[in-house]
Amino acid sequence: MNNQLRAFTDSCVLCGICTEVCPFYIATGNAKYGAMAKVEASGALFRGSSIGDEDLKTILLCTRCDHCQSACPTNIPVADIVQEARAELRKVKRVPDKYNSIAEAIIRSGSPMGTPTEKRRAYVPEGFQSPKKARYLYVPGCWSGIRLPETARASVELMIKAGIDFTILGDRE
Ligand code: SF4
Ligand code: SF4
Repeated sequence: MNNQLRAFTDSCVLCGICTEVCPFYIATGNAKYGAMAKVEASGALFRGSSIGDEDLKTILLCTRCDHCQSACPTNIPVADIVQEARAELRKVKRVPDKYNSIAEAIIRSGSPMGTPTEKRRAYVPEGFQSPKKARYLYVPGCWSGIRLPETARASVELMIKAGIDFTILGDRE
């Protein structure tokens, strides 16, 4: 375990300023899903205490956007603490099965949904030749590329029309 991150959880003064800017608190209005609750839950985990389902859930709900650290008066790296806590969850076998399935799908097929490469490339407009080098790389991600390929295709067509120097991952999609 990273002792410095553990020490950060002890130095948190529980002021709650970070909670106000955390997107999970903003979306739910539930302080338990805000940044301060993640620091508290992580601290408990680091100290070897057993944590409940809500503590587990709040550790899993973090995009690592870093809004909390920017707001924290003592610059506590909440996202790094959460990441360390997730590693700890794995050690104590508290990672929910569905998260393990996602990790296995990524290892197996390169996609969290287990979607084969040909299907992930289906959004690419016919005849589009991606240059080997370009100023920008367009990565539609799973949601646009797989679930809403028409939006990814429209983005590519728009960039072609706008004359933007871009490429895509192609076979590494
Ligand atoms: S990094 Fe995580 S805890 Fe911090 S504001 Fe973003 S989502 Fe919330
Ligand atoms: S803003 Fe910083 S000190 Fe205050 S609760 Fe959040 S992490 Fe702790």
